[in-house]
Amino acid sequence: MISAPLIERKLCGPGPCNPYAEAQVALTRPLLGHLDPEFLRIMDETCEMLRTVWGTENPRTLPLSATGSGGMEAAFVNTVHKGDVVVVAVNGLFGQRMCEVASRLHARVVPVDSPWGEPIDIHAVRRAHPNPDIIAAVHAETSTGVRNDIAALGEIKGNALLLTDHVTAIGGSEVSVDDWGVDIAYAGTQKCLGVAPGLAPFTISERAFKRRVGRPSSWYFDLGLLGGYVGGSAGRQRTYHHTAPTGMVVSLHAALTRILAESLDTAIARHEAAGAALQQGLVDMGLELFAAEGARLPQLTTVRVPEGVDSAAVRRHLLEHYSLEIGAGVGEYASSVWRIGLMGPNASPATVALVLGALGEALG
Ligand code: PLP
Repeated sequence: MISAPLIERKLCGPGPCNPYAEAQVALTRPLLGHLDPEFLRIMDETCEMLRTVWGTENPRTLPLSATGSGGMEAAFVNTVHKGDVVVVAVNGLFGQRMCEVASRLHARVVPVDSPWGEPIDIHAVRRAHPNPDIIAAVHAETSTGVRNDIAALGEIKGNALLLTDHVTAIGGSEVSVDDWGVDIAYAGTQKCLGVAPGLAPFTISERAFKRRVGRPSSWYFDLGLLGGYVGGSAGRQRTYHHTAPTGMVVSLHAALTRILAESLDTAIARHEAAGAALQQGLVDMGLELFAAEGARLPQLTTVRVPEGVDSAAVRRHLLEHYSLEIGAGVGEYASSVWRIGLMGPNASPATVALVLGALGEALG
C-alpha cells in the first residue's frame, strides 16, 4: 500500500497556523466518549479557561462545534429578529460576510464601509442609524491585517447589542468582552489559540441572551438548546444535544492550559514583539506595508508585492524550498498583497528570522 508522505509545513499564512505542541499531542490521546465524566470535566475546564481569554464572566461561554464562520452564523441567527436594524462596520472580507449572514436572516443591514487597509470609522458607525438593534464589527480583519477598536464601539452602542468577531484576535491580542461592552462574540481555534481548525469559542451576555430569538431558524446553533450541552458550567445537568467533537475539545483544553501557564499577557506580548520585528524587517528590506500605521495587527501582517514580482511564484518558491506557507491577498489585492501570519507557536523570533530570510532570498 502506498501511503502519502508526512509533509511538515511552517504555516505562516492567515491561518491555520501550526498548533502548539501540547494541542498537537492531545490529538493523539485515546478518544473519550462525549458523556464520559472525564470529558465533562475537560469541557467544564475549557469553558472556564475560555472565560479568561475572552475577559468575561458570561456563564454562556463555550466552544461551538464549528469553524469561525459557524460562530458567525450562531451569533446572528440567535440575535437577529426579522426586520432588525443591523449596522455592520465593514473594512474587509469578514465584515462583508457579516452583512451577507445578517441579510439572509431578513435584517435591515446598514453597512458602514471604510477603505480596505484602514480601520473602521467609529463616528460613521454612530451616525449610520439613530437606534440600531445590533452593531457588528470584526476586531482583527484577517483580509487586510487591520485592528479595529471594539472598545470604542462599546462606548457608542447605546441600546444596541454589540456583536463582534475575534477569530484572529483571540489569544494574540487583548480581548475584554465585559469591559468593552461586547454582548455576543465568536472566534476560531486555528489562529492565535494554536489549535487545528474546527471549534468556535463563543460567548454571550445575559442581556443579549434575554433578547435572543425564541426559535432561531437553526436548530444546531440554537443557544437555548446548547445551554444543556455544556451542562455544568451553565449550572445545569449536561444533556445530549449533539456529539461533542471530543478530540478537538481535548486539544483546545491543552492549548488553553499552555497559554495560561505562559500567561495570557505574555502570550499577547510575544505576538506583539514578533509582529513588530517582522514588520520592521520587511520595511528594512524596502517593502511597503499595506495596513495603515497605528492599526496594524501583529499576528497578521499585510505587505505589498513589489512591482514586477509574480506573487504566486514567490509563494510557490517558499513552499517548495522552505516548506513555508504565506498567504495571498484577498479580492482586488489577491496578487498585489501577501498576508503573513505569526500566530500561536509561530509568534517567535525564530519564525520571524525564517520568514525574512526566505522572503529575502526569494526576492533576490
Ligand atoms: N472571521 C475572521 C476574521 C476570519 O479570519 C475567519 C477565517 O479566516 C473567519 C471569520 C471564518 O472562519 P472559518 O474560516 O474558520 O470558518
